[in-house]
Amino acid sequence: MIIGLTGSMAAGKGTIADFLIQRGFQHYSVEYFLIQELKKRGMIVNKDNLNGVYKEMQVENGKEYVIDTLYELAKKTGKDSVIESLNCVEEIELLKLKQNCFIVALDAAAHIRYERAMNKESEAGMMSLDEFLEAEDREKVMECVKLADFAIINEGTIAELKVKLSEAIEKFEGKEKRPSWDEYFMEICKAVAKRATCDRGKSGCVIVKDKRLLVTGYVGSPKGIPHCDEVGHQMKTIVHEDGTRTQHCVRTTHAEQNAICQAAMVGIPIDGGILYCKMTPCSTCAKMIINAGIKKVICEKKYHAGKESEELFSQARIEIEFLEDTIEQYKNQ
Ligand SMILES: [Zn+2]
Ligand SMILES: [Zn+2]
Repeated sequence: MIIGLTGSMAAGKGTIADFLIQRGFQHYSVEYFLIQELKKRGMIVNKDNLNGVYKEMQVENGKEYVIDTLYELAKKTGKDSVIESLNCVEEIELLKLKQNCFIVALDAAAHIRYERAMNKESEAGMMSLDEFLEAEDREKVMECVKLADFAIINEGTIAELKVKLSEAIEKFEGKEKRPSWDEYFMEICKAVAKRATCDRGKSGCVIVKDKRLLVTGYVGSPKGIPHCDEVGHQMKTIVHEDGTRTQHCVRTTHAEQNAICQAAMVGIPIDGGILYCKMTPCSTCAKMIINAGIKKVICEKKYHAGKESEELFSQARIEIEFLEDTIEQYKNQ
């Protein structure tokens, strides 16, 4: 889930962001992103330069550049994220179109926000209520608030604000948007993996073509042969060219191999298909994938020792994609 935050000045957006970070959300901010860019360009951080650099980046890379970049960064972590300081309608409309993105808006009566801002003694220093109100384009803020999936009037206590945020998250969890095709097949892959019989690497695999599911496979012993969860693992030590040794359970056929075997057994051509799996396939699986005619491999994450397979795929001109930016590490290997 990605939550975008918008709303009026001193309405509590920062507090909400802190709550979300405490709940394990990754934090991104349009303003912080622009500040970093100004620093990179050796420019002073002020309001005019922030607006200027934003416009320049849009001219250079397209109108959607800033939001797209933050969204992609958030998505790559595979974790819940919050994107702060959304200040214009275009940004919000753009984010709302993305998978599982929701907008929370905050507002409160002007005098309450003014008191909060002055108590905080922000960088802007002390100002009159009129000056405070003038510093914000109220009409623009209200347009943003109107677009929110959940609006919070934050005029009560911190505890009340926390309750409202929980309500918002519950609401969003109840109506997470339709998954993309990649998410859809990866979810199926994870369901298949639950049948795995070696708990060292509970992995699953599905092969699809033209958005249709063809075959499935999970890691397990060949038919009729005892499983790891019945008789224990069958560990072997592999000595590598550089002298390092790693431990592997060799009792099982891998998920990718089982999916290919299933296709062979029932006679389903998988030539030109896309293979989804948990992580970078091992080199044996990679070779089988190449010979089975698979055109693309989509992994949930990287395997820490997946370089050899990645090279094989590259030589065979098979595309490999990772949905998450994380790396799977094995214990006691
Ligand atoms: Zn095992
Ligand atoms: Zn394998």
